Amino acid sequence: AQVADVNKTLTKLMGIAGPHCVSGKIDVQTVLEEKMPKARVDASTLQSILTNLVANAIEAMPQGGVLKLKTRHVKVLRIIKIEIADSGPGIPKEERAKVFTPFFTTKQRGKGTGLGLFVSHEMVRKLGGNIRVISSTGNESSTPGTVFTVELPTEQAE
Ligand code: ADP
Ligand code: MG
Repeated sequence: AQVADVNKTLTKLMGIAGPHCVSGKIDVQTVLEEKMPKARVDASTLQSILTNLVANAIEAMPQGGVLKLKTRHVKVLRIIKIEIADSGPGIPKEERAKVFTPFFTTKQRGKGTGLGLFVSHEMVRKLGGNIRVISSTGNESSTPGTVFTVELPTEQAE
């Protein structure tokens, strides 16, 4: 099976997405765990998954905000956890269950295909991983924002 370096892929992606964040006043905070094992995924699939999630986070904050990227190796579970968090408006409760379904989009006609999360979810599931969302619209006595968590098996897992 192919393997990829999650931190390297994220760093490379932010090298491309970073300049867009500067213009939108998005503060990018990156906390990457050092010396993690590789994830059992090929680099281009991993890049697609992360690009979809980072793009959604940036698109959720047109007026600016905070984008947090975090990686962690959870040894006991033999997984790598990747968190992509934004301080955008959050996903309303009634929409949360729909975001992974094909063609669900709240974006303007022509702006969103509604396929990003569906495809990412499919890819992650096929890899034996997991993708989850936790979101708050700020109506629930907490600060608004969205956290997508991707869990991928590590190279030594079997
Ligand atoms: P698209 O980006 O083309 O709309 P996606 O599958 O990537 O399609 O996302 C589906 C929908 O999920 C979005 O239109 C949006 O309503 C919601 N969504 C996804 N990520 C976020 C986020 N970080 N913050 C708020 N809403 C989000
Ligand atoms: Mg998208």
